[in-house]
Amino acid sequence: MLIKNYSSELMAYSAEKAREEAKKHYGNEIYIRGLIEISNFCKNDCYYCGIRKSNKNCNRYRLSKDEILECCKEGYELGFRTFVLQGGEDSYYTDEVLCEIIREIKSEYPDCAVTLSLGERSKESYQSLFDAGADRYLLRHETAVKEHYEKLHPDSLKFDERMRCLRQLKEIGYQVGCGFMVGSPYQTTEYLAKDLKFIEEFSPHMCGIGPFISHKDTPFKDEKSGSAELTVFLLSLIRLIKPNILLPATTALGTLDEKGREKGVLAGANVVMPNLSPLSVRKKYMLYDNKISTGQESAQCVEDLKKRLKEIGYKVVTARGDCKE
Ligand code: SAH
Repeated sequence: MLIKNYSSELMAYSAEKAREEAKKHYGNEIYIRGLIEISNFCKNDCYYCGIRKSNKNCNRYRLSKDEILECCKEGYELGFRTFVLQGGEDSYYTDEVLCEIIREIKSEYPDCAVTLSLGERSKESYQSLFDAGADRYLLRHETAVKEHYEKLHPDSLKFDERMRCLRQLKEIGYQVGCGFMVGSPYQTTEYLAKDLKFIEEFSPHMCGIGPFISHKDTPFKDEKSGSAELTVFLLSLIRLIKPNILLPATTALGTLDEKGREKGVLAGANVVMPNLSPLSVRKKYMLYDNKISTGQESAQCVEDLKKRLKEIGYKVVTARGDCKE
Protein backbone atom coordinates (compact mmCIF):
# COMPACT_ATOMS: atom_id res chain seq x y z
CA MET A 1 0.00 0.00 0.00
CA LEU A 2 2.72 2.37 1.03
CA ILE A 3 4.54 1.73 -2.21
CA LYS A 4 1.56 1.63 -4.53
CA ASN A 5 0.05 4.95 -3.62
CA TYR A 6 3.10 6.98 -2.82
CA SER A 7 2.66 10.72 -3.18
CA SER A 8 5.12 13.56 -3.32
CA GLU A 9 4.26 14.40 0.31
CA LEU A 10 4.98 10.87 1.43
CA MET A 11 8.22 10.88 -0.55
CA ALA A 12 9.35 14.13 1.02
CA TYR A 13 8.41 12.96 4.50
CA SER A 14 10.20 9.62 4.10
CA ALA A 15 13.26 11.33 2.65
CA GLU A 16 13.47 13.67 5.61
CA LYS A 17 13.20 10.83 8.11
CA ALA A 18 15.67 8.72 6.12
CA ARG A 19 18.17 11.60 6.00
CA GLU A 20 17.91 11.96 9.76
CA GLU A 21 18.66 8.27 10.23
CA ALA A 22 21.61 8.38 7.84
CA LYS A 23 22.96 11.41 9.71
CA LYS A 24 22.73 9.63 13.05
CA HIS A 25 25.08 6.93 11.80
CA TYR A 26 27.19 8.61 9.15
CA GLY A 27 26.80 12.37 9.68
CA ASN A 28 27.03 14.28 6.42
CA GLU A 29 29.80 12.03 5.14
CA ILE A 30 29.52 10.23 1.82
CA TYR A 31 31.70 7.22 1.12
CA ILE A 32 33.11 6.71 -2.32
CA ARG A 33 34.03 3.36 -3.89
CA GLY A 34 36.21 3.04 -6.94
CA LEU A 35 34.40 0.77 -9.36
CA ILE A 36 36.70 -1.25 -11.57
CA GLU A 37 34.83 -3.18 -14.25
CA ILE A 38 37.30 -5.99 -14.76
CA SER A 39 35.58 -7.98 -17.50
CA ASN A 40 32.49 -8.03 -19.67
CA PHE A 41 32.83 -11.69 -20.62
CA CYS A 42 29.94 -13.57 -19.05
CA LYS A 43 28.76 -17.14 -19.19
CA ASN A 44 25.24 -16.15 -18.16
CA ASP A 45 22.34 -14.96 -20.25
CA CYS A 46 20.27 -12.77 -17.93
CA TYR A 47 17.42 -11.34 -20.01
CA TYR A 48 17.99 -7.78 -18.81
CA CYS A 49 21.74 -7.47 -19.06
CA GLY A 50 23.70 -5.96 -21.93
CA ILE A 51 26.80 -8.09 -21.37
CA ARG A 52 24.85 -11.38 -21.52
CA LYS A 53 26.55 -14.22 -23.32
CA SER A 54 24.26 -14.12 -26.35
CA ASN A 55 24.85 -10.47 -27.12
CA LYS A 56 27.01 -10.71 -30.23
CA ASN A 57 27.30 -6.93 -30.44
CA CYS A 58 29.12 -6.70 -27.15
CA ASN A 59 32.79 -5.94 -27.67
CA ARG A 60 34.46 -8.12 -25.03
CA TYR A 61 37.46 -7.21 -22.89
CA ARG A 62 39.08 -8.24 -19.65
CA LEU A 63 41.63 -6.41 -17.52
CA SER A 64 44.95 -7.91 -16.52
CA LYS A 65 46.28 -7.82 -13.00
CA ASP A 66 48.57 -4.94 -13.93
CA GLU A 67 45.73 -2.95 -15.43
CA ILE A 68 43.64 -3.47 -12.31
CA LEU A 69 46.55 -2.39 -10.09
CA GLU A 70 47.00 0.68 -12.25
CA CYS A 71 43.35 1.61 -11.61
CA CYS A 72 43.90 1.16 -7.87
CA LYS A 73 46.97 3.38 -7.98
CA GLU A 74 45.07 6.14 -9.69
CA GLY A 75 42.14 5.64 -7.33
CA TYR A 76 44.27 5.68 -4.21
CA GLU A 77 45.74 9.04 -5.19
CA LEU A 78 42.23 10.38 -5.65
CA GLY A 79 41.25 9.34 -2.13
CA PHE A 80 39.51 6.03 -2.74
CA ARG A 81 39.93 3.52 0.07
CA THR A 82 37.62 0.86 -1.35
CA PHE A 83 38.07 -0.83 -4.69
CA VAL A 84 35.16 -2.74 -6.14
CA LEU A 85 36.09 -5.38 -8.70
CA GLN A 86 32.98 -6.06 -10.73
CA GLY A 87 32.48 -8.14 -13.82
CA GLY A 88 30.57 -10.77 -15.70
CA GLU A 89 31.04 -14.40 -14.72
CA ASP A 90 34.26 -14.87 -16.64
CA SER A 91 36.01 -18.23 -16.18
CA TYR A 92 39.38 -16.58 -16.83
CA TYR A 93 39.24 -15.32 -13.25
CA THR A 94 39.92 -18.55 -11.42
CA ASP A 95 40.43 -18.49 -7.67
CA GLU A 96 44.15 -18.56 -8.28
CA VAL A 97 44.10 -15.52 -10.58
CA LEU A 98 41.75 -13.56 -8.31
CA CYS A 99 43.55 -14.43 -5.09
CA GLU A 100 46.76 -13.11 -6.51
CA ILE A 101 45.10 -9.85 -7.58
CA ILE A 102 43.46 -9.44 -4.17
CA ARG A 103 46.68 -10.19 -2.29
CA GLU A 104 48.60 -7.63 -4.32
CA ILE A 105 45.98 -4.93 -3.82
CA LYS A 106 45.89 -5.62 -0.09
CA SER A 107 49.66 -5.65 0.25
CA GLU A 108 50.11 -2.38 -1.67
CA TYR A 109 47.12 -0.70 -0.04
CA PRO A 110 46.64 -2.29 3.39
CA ASP A 111 44.37 0.55 4.45
CA CYS A 112 41.88 -0.20 1.68
CA ALA A 113 38.92 -2.53 1.46
CA VAL A 114 38.42 -4.83 -1.50
CA THR A 115 34.87 -5.51 -2.61
CA LEU A 116 34.06 -8.20 -5.14
CA SER A 117 31.03 -8.31 -7.40
CA LEU A 118 31.67 -11.29 -9.62
CA GLY A 119 28.50 -13.29 -9.39
CA GLU A 120 27.85 -16.82 -8.19
CA ARG A 121 30.75 -19.03 -7.12
CA SER A 122 31.16 -22.03 -4.87
CA LYS A 123 31.47 -21.70 -1.11
CA GLU A 124 35.08 -22.88 -1.34
CA SER A 125 35.80 -20.18 -3.88
CA TYR A 126 34.21 -17.45 -1.75
CA GLN A 127 36.24 -18.73 1.18
CA SER A 128 39.55 -18.62 -0.75
CA LEU A 129 38.88 -15.08 -1.94
CA PHE A 130 38.05 -14.05 1.61
CA ASP A 131 41.20 -15.69 2.92
CA ALA A 132 43.18 -13.81 0.27
CA GLY A 133 41.88 -10.57 1.80
CA ALA A 134 38.59 -9.64 0.14
CA ASP A 135 36.41 -7.76 2.61
CA ARG A 136 33.04 -7.34 0.97
CA TYR A 137 30.87 -9.00 -1.68
CA LEU A 138 28.05 -7.52 -3.69
CA LEU A 139 25.55 -9.93 -5.17
CA ARG A 140 22.16 -8.48 -5.91
CA HIS A 141 19.33 -10.88 -5.24
CA GLU A 142 17.56 -9.11 -8.18
CA THR A 143 14.12 -10.04 -6.81
CA ALA A 144 13.00 -11.79 -3.65
CA VAL A 145 10.26 -13.69 -5.47
CA LYS A 146 11.19 -16.99 -7.06
CA GLU A 147 8.61 -16.84 -9.88
CA HIS A 148 9.81 -13.36 -10.74
CA TYR A 149 13.44 -14.47 -10.68
CA GLU A 150 12.58 -17.14 -13.21
CA LYS A 151 11.11 -14.55 -15.56
CA LEU A 152 14.30 -12.51 -15.51
CA HIS A 153 16.74 -15.37 -15.95
CA PRO A 154 17.17 -18.50 -18.05
CA ASP A 155 16.75 -21.92 -16.40
CA SER A 156 20.44 -22.25 -15.71
CA LEU A 157 20.18 -19.54 -13.06
CA LYS A 158 18.32 -20.59 -9.96
CA PHE A 159 16.79 -18.44 -7.27
CA ASP A 160 17.81 -20.96 -4.61
CA GLU A 161 21.42 -20.83 -5.77
CA ARG A 162 21.44 -17.05 -5.47
CA MET A 163 20.10 -17.36 -1.92
CA ARG A 164 22.67 -20.04 -1.15
CA CYS A 165 25.44 -17.70 -2.28
CA LEU A 166 24.18 -14.79 -0.19
CA ARG A 167 23.83 -16.94 2.91
CA GLN A 168 27.28 -18.45 2.55
CA LEU A 169 28.95 -15.10 1.88
CA LYS A 170 27.57 -13.92 5.18
CA GLU A 171 28.60 -17.08 7.03
CA ILE A 172 32.15 -16.70 5.75
CA GLY A 173 32.33 -13.22 7.22
CA TYR A 174 32.09 -10.89 4.26
CA GLN A 175 30.26 -7.61 4.56
CA VAL A 176 27.52 -8.51 2.13
CA GLY A 177 25.46 -6.43 -0.26
CA CYS A 178 22.26 -7.54 -1.95
CA GLY A 179 19.89 -5.48 -4.06
CA PHE A 180 17.41 -5.34 -6.88
CA MET A 181 16.30 -3.43 -9.93
CA VAL A 182 13.33 -1.11 -9.66
CA GLY A 183 10.81 -1.49 -12.47
CA SER A 184 12.21 -4.70 -13.90
CA PRO A 185 9.77 -6.48 -16.24
CA TYR A 186 6.90 -8.28 -14.44
CA GLN A 187 7.66 -6.56 -11.13
CA THR A 188 4.62 -5.66 -9.02
CA THR A 189 4.33 -3.59 -5.86
CA GLU A 190 3.77 -6.81 -3.94
CA TYR A 191 7.11 -8.06 -5.21
CA LEU A 192 8.77 -4.83 -4.11
CA ALA A 193 7.24 -5.26 -0.68
CA LYS A 194 8.83 -8.73 -0.59
CA ASP A 195 12.18 -7.23 -1.56
CA LEU A 196 11.93 -4.90 1.44
CA LYS A 197 10.91 -7.78 3.69
CA PHE A 198 13.87 -9.77 2.44
CA ILE A 199 16.22 -6.89 3.26
CA GLU A 200 14.76 -6.68 6.73
CA GLU A 201 15.25 -10.39 7.34
CA PHE A 202 18.56 -10.98 5.60
CA SER A 203 19.92 -7.77 7.09
CA PRO A 204 22.75 -7.12 4.62
CA HIS A 205 25.50 -4.57 5.28
CA MET A 206 24.77 -2.92 1.94
CA CYS A 207 21.97 -2.71 -0.55
CA GLY A 208 22.29 -1.60 -4.16
CA ILE A 209 19.14 -0.60 -5.98
CA GLY A 210 18.73 1.16 -9.28
CA PRO A 211 16.07 1.51 -11.95
CA PHE A 212 15.91 -1.15 -14.64
CA ILE A 213 16.96 0.39 -17.96
CA SER A 214 16.42 -1.57 -21.14
CA HIS A 215 19.32 -2.53 -23.37
CA LYS A 216 18.78 -2.71 -27.12
CA ASP A 217 20.49 -6.08 -27.60
CA THR A 218 18.58 -8.05 -24.97
CA PRO A 219 15.22 -9.87 -24.92
CA PHE A 220 13.93 -6.99 -22.76
CA LYS A 221 14.79 -4.35 -25.35
CA ASP A 222 11.20 -3.16 -25.67
CA GLU A 223 10.41 -3.17 -21.96
CA LYS A 224 9.75 0.05 -20.16
CA SER A 225 12.48 1.40 -17.91
CA GLY A 226 11.95 1.78 -14.18
CA SER A 227 11.20 5.05 -12.45
CA ALA A 228 13.90 7.19 -10.87
CA GLU A 229 11.32 8.63 -8.53
CA LEU A 230 10.21 5.26 -7.20
CA THR A 231 13.86 4.27 -6.80
CA VAL A 232 14.48 7.34 -4.67
CA PHE A 233 11.42 6.58 -2.53
CA LEU A 234 12.57 3.00 -2.03
CA LEU A 235 16.01 4.23 -0.98
CA SER A 236 14.32 6.12 1.85
CA LEU A 237 12.30 3.07 2.87
CA ILE A 238 15.40 0.89 2.93
CA ARG A 239 17.22 3.46 5.07
CA LEU A 240 14.30 3.44 7.49
CA ILE A 241 14.14 -0.36 7.60
CA LYS A 242 17.86 -0.68 8.31
CA PRO A 243 19.16 2.67 9.57
CA ASN A 244 22.89 1.85 9.49
CA ILE A 245 22.93 0.19 6.06
CA LEU A 246 25.44 1.25 3.40
CA LEU A 247 23.23 2.56 0.64
CA PRO A 248 24.60 3.67 -2.72
CA ALA A 249 23.01 6.19 -5.04
CA THR A 250 23.74 4.07 -8.10
CA THR A 251 24.98 4.78 -11.61
CA ALA A 252 21.67 3.59 -13.07
CA LEU A 253 19.85 6.22 -11.01
CA GLY A 254 22.33 8.85 -12.23
CA THR A 255 21.76 7.65 -15.79
CA LEU A 256 17.98 8.09 -15.72
CA ASP A 257 18.07 11.40 -13.91
CA GLU A 258 20.87 13.92 -14.25
CA LYS A 259 20.39 14.80 -10.57
CA GLY A 260 19.76 11.18 -9.56
CA ARG A 261 22.76 10.83 -7.31
CA GLU A 262 21.98 14.03 -5.41
CA LYS A 263 18.35 12.98 -5.07
CA GLY A 264 19.51 9.59 -3.81
CA VAL A 265 21.71 11.17 -1.15
CA LEU A 266 18.91 13.51 -0.11
CA ALA A 267 16.70 10.43 0.25
CA GLY A 268 19.13 8.69 2.61
CA ALA A 269 21.86 7.15 0.44
CA ASN A 270 25.40 7.49 1.81
CA VAL A 271 27.61 5.86 -0.83
CA VAL A 272 28.56 6.73 -4.41
CA MET A 273 30.57 4.48 -6.70
CA PRO A 274 32.43 6.44 -9.36
CA ASN A 275 33.96 4.56 -12.25
CA LEU A 276 37.68 3.88 -12.05
CA SER A 277 37.84 1.58 -15.08
CA PRO A 278 40.30 2.57 -17.79
CA LEU A 279 38.68 5.05 -20.20
CA SER A 280 39.30 2.66 -23.09
CA VAL A 281 36.91 0.02 -21.73
CA ARG A 282 34.19 2.11 -20.12
CA LYS A 283 31.91 2.13 -23.14
CA LYS A 284 32.18 -1.64 -23.37
CA TYR A 285 30.72 -2.38 -19.96
CA MET A 286 27.21 -1.48 -21.11
CA LEU A 287 24.78 -3.21 -18.80
CA TYR A 288 21.99 -1.00 -20.15
CA ASP A 289 21.58 1.68 -22.82
CA ASN A 290 23.13 5.11 -22.26
CA LYS A 291 24.98 4.09 -19.10
CA ILE A 292 26.91 7.17 -18.02
CA SER A 293 30.41 7.10 -19.31
CA THR A 294 31.33 10.71 -19.65
CA GLY A 295 34.75 10.06 -21.09
CA GLN A 296 35.92 12.20 -18.22
CA GLU A 297 39.06 11.26 -16.35
CA SER A 298 38.33 9.71 -12.95
CA ALA A 299 39.97 12.71 -11.31
CA GLN A 300 37.54 15.09 -12.99
CA CYS A 301 34.61 12.87 -12.04
CA VAL A 302 35.60 12.90 -8.39
CA GLU A 303 36.08 16.65 -8.34
CA ASP A 304 32.71 17.11 -9.97
CA LEU A 305 31.04 14.76 -7.51
CA LYS A 306 32.60 16.52 -4.52
CA LYS A 307 31.32 19.83 -5.77
CA ARG A 308 27.83 18.57 -6.46
CA LEU A 309 27.50 16.92 -3.06
CA LYS A 310 28.94 19.94 -1.28
CA GLU A 311 26.20 22.04 -2.82
CA ILE A 312 23.61 19.92 -1.02
CA GLY A 313 25.51 19.91 2.27
CA TYR A 314 27.42 16.65 2.09
CA LYS A 315 31.12 15.86 2.21
CA VAL A 316 32.92 13.15 0.24
CA VAL A 317 35.42 11.50 2.59
CA THR A 318 38.57 9.43 2.26
CA ALA A 319 37.74 6.45 4.44
CA ARG A 320 37.23 2.73 4.00
CA GLY A 321 33.62 3.34 4.88
CA ASP A 322 32.66 0.18 6.72
CA CYS A 323 29.16 -0.42 7.96
CA LYS A 324 28.73 1.18 11.39
CA GLU A 325 27.14 -1.13 13.92
N1 SAH B 1 28.01 -10.44 -12.77
C1 SAH B 1 27.92 -9.73 -11.52
C2 SAH B 1 27.79 -8.24 -11.71
C3 SAH B 1 26.51 -7.88 -12.41
S1 SAH B 1 26.32 -6.22 -12.94
C4 SAH B 1 26.78 -10.32 -10.73
O1 SAH B 1 26.08 -11.17 -11.24
O2 SAH B 1 26.59 -9.94 -9.58
C5 SAH B 1 25.63 -5.50 -11.51
C6 SAH B 1 24.14 -5.28 -11.51
O3 SAH B 1 23.71 -4.49 -12.59
C7 SAH B 1 23.27 -6.51 -11.63
O4 SAH B 1 23.21 -7.21 -10.43
C8 SAH B 1 21.93 -5.93 -12.06
O5 SAH B 1 21.06 -5.72 -10.95
C9 SAH B 1 22.32 -4.59 -12.68
N2 SAH B 1 21.87 -4.54 -14.08
C10 SAH B 1 22.14 -5.41 -15.08
N3 SAH B 1 21.45 -5.09 -16.20
C11 SAH B 1 20.73 -3.99 -15.90
C12 SAH B 1 19.80 -3.18 -16.62
N4 SAH B 1 19.46 -3.46 -17.87
N5 SAH B 1 19.26 -2.12 -15.98
C13 SAH B 1 19.58 -1.82 -14.71
N6 SAH B 1 20.43 -2.55 -13.98
C14 SAH B 1 20.99 -3.63 -14.55
